[in-house]
Amino acid sequence: MSFGSSSDTKEQVREAIDIVDLVGKYVQLRRQGRVYVGLCPWHDDTRPSLQVNPERQSFKCWVCDIGGDIFSFVMKMEGVEFREALAMLADRAGIPLRTTPPIRAASPGIAGAPASEAVSAAFPGGDSAGERKRVLYRAMAWAETQYHDCLLQAPAAEPARKYLERRGITPESIRKFHLGFSPNEPDWLLRRVQGAESRAKVLETIGVLARSPEGGWYDRFRGRLLFPIRDTQDRPVGLGGRVLPESGLASRAKYINSPETPLFTKSDHLYGMDVARTALRKSRTALVMEGYTDCIVAHQHGFEDAVAVLGTALTERHVRILKRFVDRIVLVLDGDEAGRRRANEVLELFVAQNVDLRILTLPEGMDPAEFLAEHGAEAFGDLLATRSLDALEHAFRTETEGVDLDRDVHAASRALERLLAILARAPRLRPDSSHDDRFRQEKTLQRLAARFRVPEQDVRQRLIALRRAASRRADSG
Ligand SMILES: [Zn+2]
Repeated sequence: MSFGSSSDTKEQVREAIDIVDLVGKYVQLRRQGRVYVGLCPWHDDTRPSLQVNPERQSFKCWVCDIGGDIFSFVMKMEGVEFREALAMLADRAGIPLRTTPPIRAASPGIAGAPASEAVSAAFPGGDSAGERKRVLYRAMAWAETQYHDCLLQAPAAEPARKYLERRGITPESIRKFHLGFSPNEPDWLLRRVQGAESRAKVLETIGVLARSPEGGWYDRFRGRLLFPIRDTQDRPVGLGGRVLPESGLASRAKYINSPETPLFTKSDHLYGMDVARTALRKSRTALVMEGYTDCIVAHQHGFEDAVAVLGTALTERHVRILKRFVDRIVLVLDGDEAGRRRANEVLELFVAQNVDLRILTLPEGMDPAEFLAEHGAEAFGDLLATRSLDALEHAFRTETEGVDLDRDVHAASRALERLLAILARAPRLRPDSSHDDRFRQEKTLQRLAARFRVPEQDVRQRLIALRRAASRRADSG
């Protein structure tokens, strides 16, 4: 996008958004004379050091020595480039971008017929892609609120409230994570949209309602406790639903997630990013759990940098999102069996992405929520500090488990071969690869050579041979 095409929009956005409102969405501000002050999100602040000036529409932290306008605030806060910051702020202000940035234009499904038809039928004025998507976000936020209010107040939600109490989830967490409940009635939500067909279609587009074989719609998440999934901009984009033991629906899947929609892609989102964001920036570490309740219970025990994957493995996309906020990722797994299954995929991520990726497997096959309930926060903190292994060490231990490296030469060389095969699949260093990447690859080979007690040169040559074989296979295939 050239500067010329975006500068008008930039000025419109600047006029539409007040910096005190914007910063206030992230940081609690209070007035102090002619400025507002709050705790700086970028350093461990107690003073408060962050100043927001409504006259100049600027912000400044004197300790970090950073400051700027609404655009630089969002760039810094969300870890995005100017173009994306402009798109986010324009979206917030309801100003259509004349040149749609690629990041949005590429969103899957937004131009797809069912979504656009349904949305423009519901809201005839909204014909641009941006407006259509805003309608979907609003509908998702509306549904989230309906379910949340239901969990807080409805008599039908009593079993859900009891269940949460038994799992040790506090009322404060219920609000913080916007938990919800969908009563076991197929048309509970539909009744609340007052039957308008066009609106039901919007709710179908975002995956909240599903089309029934007999015609009409039903609530996809009926009879389930709901864990809303929000994006890093705090917008609800999907739902995870857990069936309640009491609901008499035991035959159904224990957990379901929203289907793929224009707002939601399972492998793109992490549960809890909205509430963990500030803590992630401070600790520079993300604890990635495998369950919604694990993530919530971790927060309750003070581990506010916990997030969770949504029933998938940790993906490259997850790592890219987390790298905007942290330098280290610790994948917390339930016991050794899960650790063994995940060892190779995590090693692949580790070599493909320049990130400190660690694995913590909990003892006795406990999940994080169980471990925290039984042993407490301090014991969990100790495990994190002493038992989390980096991905290479974890894979090494998994592959060589029960192998006597000194005596069983064949088993040892097979284990080394398997590890090198994973490294060989990683993206190859290019001539323009950074010094960091080169250093990292060298370090990895050195460590493998040391662990297997073989000359480094042999390991390097074997890796080169495996890569050649892999690219020959790719060429002939
Ligand atoms: Zn600061």
